[in-house]
Amino acid sequence: MVKETKYYDALGVSPSANENELRKAYRKAALKYHPDKNPSPEAAEKFKEISHAYDILSDEQKREIYDSYGEDGLSGQGGMGGGMGADDIFSQFFGGGFGGAGGGASRGPARGKDIKHLITCTLEELYKGRTAKLALNKTILCKACDGRGGAEGKIKQCSSCHGQGMKFVTRQMGPMIQRFQTVCDVCKGAGDICDPKDRCKECQGKKTQSERKILQVHIDPGMKDGQRIVFSGEGDQEPGITPGDVIFVVDEKPHELFTRKGADLYYEATIDLLTALAGGEFAFKHISGDYIKVAILPGEVISPGAIRVVENKGMPIYRQGGHGNLFVKFTVKFPESHFAEEDKLKLLEQVLPARTAVNIPKGSDVEDCDLVEVDVRKHQQQNRKSAHDSDDEEGGQPGVQCATQ
Ligand SMILES: [Zn+2]
Ligand SMILES: [Zn+2]
Repeated sequence: MVKETKYYDALGVSPSANENELRKAYRKAALKYHPDKNPSPEAAEKFKEISHAYDILSDEQKREIYDSYGEDGLSGQGGMGGGMGADDIFSQFFGGGFGGAGGGASRGPARGKDIKHLITCTLEELYKGRTAKLALNKTILCKACDGRGGAEGKIKQCSSCHGQGMKFVTRQMGPMIQRFQTVCDVCKGAGDICDPKDRCKECQGKKTQSERKILQVHIDPGMKDGQRIVFSGEGDQEPGITPGDVIFVVDEKPHELFTRKGADLYYEATIDLLTALAGGEFAFKHISGDYIKVAILPGEVISPGAIRVVENKGMPIYRQGGHGNLFVKFTVKFPESHFAEEDKLKLLEQVLPARTAVNIPKGSDVEDCDLVEVDVRKHQQQNRKSAHDSDDEEGGQPGVQCATQ
């Protein structure tokens, strides 16, 4: 069902591969083609290709776009141009290059954390779509000092940690040399040094401030549980990092009457016996708010548990137009005992198919038995007793059995 399989082919997996399979396939291929392992130009090209494929397919949202619209669909989304470079993905994946010689500081600014919010939606809301306004408190770079923490030109990079805020310390303990990272004692982790009188008064040199921001989240018709709506770069700002994303995740509330599977809806309808046998109509309120009225034509028999489809009355199909189908499962409501005089019941014999004759092989012993109403106390108690007996025989735990019943 995917539009194209190029990226899947690059990694040698099927389009149905799960996250784990993708990761494994990428790991295997990356180790084979990494320039450190394989210096040929073809390998370098291949390494770029698989890394790009993995960058797309490992991102739930990008993968969804790629599956639906192919590579073209990603061009506006930072396909080849944006996203991460092959080496970035590789180091993120393996935590540094090979052997450790290369390790060290990564190029480019670090990326802030993504912030996820669940956005609970009813099936009705996912049918019609809605706009939600959500306020969030976020950290932004101080507007007074542009995130510098003090007056321009008055802030010096800490020479002790080269602006990193962290230092490596080497300590020798007997024959062991330990190397660990610690907060820089000169700048207290700030990475720069500023005279108190030049410090920004707005943020007291912290470089950031808090801001309340309202985001408008558009829930489009047909969106699904788990689908993500991404506000790129709306995460917390901090000096020297690229802000992460704010991601809203659709959380579909279960519906009392309808069940959803993809774009299809399932509904259980109860009809009376006469309608089931001789036709009639039934109606129910749909997710859309409209009432659906359905005719059952005389001659069509609906058995208990039968399933029929009302075409194109399912959920809207996200961004493609059209609707899924509505499956209706029937419960047939039978009349109560003695609903008619006995002589009237004889009329049924004229209409309904003949009774099925009993089939007992000749010469069998036959016992005539009676059916009685189920009496919960009388009949269930016997069951319970026999359950106990067998439990005891097997050395089980009758006490536990009792408690759960
Ligand atoms: Zn400031
Ligand atoms: Zn420092």
